[in-house]
Amino acid sequence: MRIAVVGGGISGLVAAYRLRQALGGGVELVLVEARERVGGILRTVEIAGEPVDLGAEAFVGRRREIPELMRELGIEEQLVHPAGRRPLVWSGGVGHRLPERTLMGIPAGAESVSGLVDAETVARIADEPNRPLEWKPGGDMSVGELVADRFGEQVVRRSVDPLLGGVYAGRADSIGVRAALPTLAAALDTGAASLTQAVARALPPPSDTPVFGGIRDGYGVLLEALRTAADVKVETATTATRLTRTATGWHLDPVGAVDAVILATPAPATATLLREISPAAADLVAGIELASSAVVALALPRDAPLPDNSGILVATDEPLRAKAFTLSSRKWPHLAARDVALVRASFGRFGNDTPLGWSDSDLVTAAVEDLTTVTGIEITPLTAVVQRWPNGLPQYAPGHTTRIAELRSATSDLPALALAGSYLNGVGVPACAASGTAAARRILEHLT
Ligand SMILES: Cc1cc2nc3c(=O)[nH]c(=O)nc-3n(C[C@H](O)[C@H](O)[C@H](O)COP(=O)(O)OP(=O)(O)OC[C@H]3O[C@@H](n4cnc5c(N)ncnc54)[C@H](O)[C@@H]3O)c2cc1C
Repeated sequence: MRIAVVGGGISGLVAAYRLRQALGGGVELVLVEARERVGGILRTVEIAGEPVDLGAEAFVGRRREIPELMRELGIEEQLVHPAGRRPLVWSGGVGHRLPERTLMGIPAGAESVSGLVDAETVARIADEPNRPLEWKPGGDMSVGELVADRFGEQVVRRSVDPLLGGVYAGRADSIGVRAALPTLAAALDTGAASLTQAVARALPPPSDTPVFGGIRDGYGVLLEALRTAADVKVETATTATRLTRTATGWHLDPVGAVDAVILATPAPATATLLREISPAAADLVAGIELASSAVVALALPRDAPLPDNSGILVATDEPLRAKAFTLSSRKWPHLAARDVALVRASFGRFGNDTPLGWSDSDLVTAAVEDLTTVTGIEITPLTAVVQRWPNGLPQYAPGHTTRIAELRSATSDLPALALAGSYLNGVGVPACAASGTAAARRILEHLT
C-alpha cells in the first residue's frame, strides 16, 4: 500500500506520523513538500548560535495536542512556559496594559478598557446592556461590525485588532464571530441580551494553566521528531500539481499511483488539487482569502533595557509600521538565559501586505525605529534575520464555519482522500496538528 501526504507543515507531518503509528511498517508513506525544507510556517534558525523560531513560537496552553505529541515522541522535557509577564498595547503614543478578562480583546465591562479608550467609549460600553441587541441565531458577522456597533470603534482598533492581528494577521473586519469566537456565537445564539452578557458567558473560567506553551529549542525539535517517527519518504522541492481518480485510488503528479492521499496544503494549493475531482469543493476552498506577514528577529545586547513586558501590540489607529513586538527574552525564561536579548517584530495584516515588498534592510530599519518608539530605548541590533510569510494565514471570514461544513459535505464521497490544514478548524499549531490526526483517521476508516 502507498499513501501520499501533500504538504510538509505541521498538519502533514502529524498526519504522516498518525498513519505510521496505526499502520506500522507495511505501508509506503510519501510526503511531498514544495519547499526545500519541511515545517511550512514552523521554522527554527540559529541566531547567536542558538535556535530561534521565525514562524510560530508558541501554542495555546489550554489545548493538549502539542504537549501530548511531545510526550508520545519522547521530547516532553522540551516543553516550556512563559514567565507570565503581560503585554502592552501601544495606543495614542503610549503603552497601556493589555485589558484583562476579555474575549479576544472584547471586554465584558467598561472597566477593563478604561484608560485605553476615551470616556465617551467607556460610557457607551457601560450603557450597552440597556440597548436592545439584534442577533439572528445561527447567523454570523465580522467581529469588527459587532464590536463597533455595541462598544465603539476604539475598542475594535485598540483592543480587538491587536489580538486578531496576532492570531490571524487579520483585522476585526476580516474575521467572523462564529469561527473565531465560537463560545461568543453560542452565547448570542442562546439568547444573551447584550454583548456584555454574551462575553461574560463566553469567557472561560479563570485558570492557573499557563496561557501558552513553547518548545525550548524551537519547533524544529518537534518537526524532526515527527519526521523520524513517521518514517516517511520526504520529497522536498517537489510540488504536487494534479490529482485525478483511478479505478483503484488516486494518481498524484509527480508521485504517481497511490491508494490514499491527504492534502495538508494551504487553501490555494488545495483548491488547485481538488479542481478536477470536485469543482464544487475547489470553489469553496478557493474562496478563502489569506493574509501575508513578515517577522524580523532582532538580537540585541543582553543588557538592553527592554520593558518588563512579554510584548507590545500596536493598535490599528497608530502610525507605526510594525503591528507587534514579542519581547522574547522577557516572555520566555529559557530565552532570558541567552547571551543576547531577543525581540521579534511582526509586520503585515490582511489587506496590507506592503511590508512584504520592502527590502530586508528596510524591514529591519522599520523594526528598529518602531521598537525605539514603543520602548523609548536606543536599539542597536547585533543581528537581524528577516522571514516573509506570504499568504501564511487564512482569514476566517464571516460564514467560514458554513463554508467548511459545505466543503466536508462536498468531499464526503471522495474515497481515501482527506484534508488537513490551517484553513479548516483553527489556524493555531494545535488545531493544525488536530486536523492532521483527523485526516489520518479518515483515511484509516476508509482503508479498514
Ligand atoms: C508569522 C506567523 C506566526 C505564527 N505564530 C503562531 C504561534 O505562535 N502559535 C500558533 O499556534 N500558531 C502560529 N501561527 C500559525 C501556525 O504557524 C500555522 O497556521 C501552521 O503552522 C500551519 O501549518 P500547516 O501545516 O497547516 O500549513 P503550512 O505550514 O503552510 O504547511 C503547508 C505546506 O504545504 C506546502 N505546499 C503548498 N503547496 C504544495 C504543493 N502543491 N505540493 C507540495 N507541497 C505544497 C508548503 O510549502 C508548506 O510547507 C503563526 C503563523 C504565522 C504566519
